[in-house]
Amino acid sequence: MSQQVRLRVRPGEKVRFPGRCVACGRPATERQTLTKRRGQVSRRLDVPLCADCARQWSRRSGEEEQLRHAARIAAVAVALLLFTLIAVSLSGLLPIGWVRLPVAAGIALVGGWLTLSALQRRAEAAALPETRAVREAARLDDFTWRDMTLTFANEEIAASVRAMNEPESADGRALSAAVDEAS
Ligand SMILES: [Zn+2]
Repeated sequence: MSQQVRLRVRPGEKVRFPGRCVACGRPATERQTLTKRRGQVSRRLDVPLCADCARQWSRRSGEEEQLRHAARIAAVAVALLLFTLIAVSLSGLLPIGWVRLPVAAGIALVGGWLTLSALQRRAEAAALPETRAVREAARLDDFTWRDMTLTFANEEIAASVRAMNEPESADGRALSAAVDEAS
């Protein structure tokens, strides 16, 4: 059963991990960066992996590789097509080229980017089952300016990450120190 952990970490603060691979629990020697984007903002997090799992993480199946390649070609094609169509269809409305072309280019870039990200998600789904298992061992699900939500496939790893980043323990110590001083 996978386990979700919500940590109080602000941007720039470090998340502590046990020195074990998040996928298999063996001693970790590598790090893998997870990225989560929300609108204009993105957060990154390095998770520990052992050498075998790190290799598995970056291994791509032939099908995944082909789909990624096709995704790039499709994105360029969509962008070019949009650019041409919009540049031509706006020619009556915006006769001046230096206004029309940036508008067309902007829309073309957005269209190309949307195509690329949709097709890349499909490519990721075509990863080998072993690769998927490693990539899903730790996920950065969500974040706000003051916390981060992670999901771990391994409950033990989830529990130790939670314990190592518990803010209550530090707050609790500060509180009891304050109480001691007052008495
Ligand atoms: Zn491992």
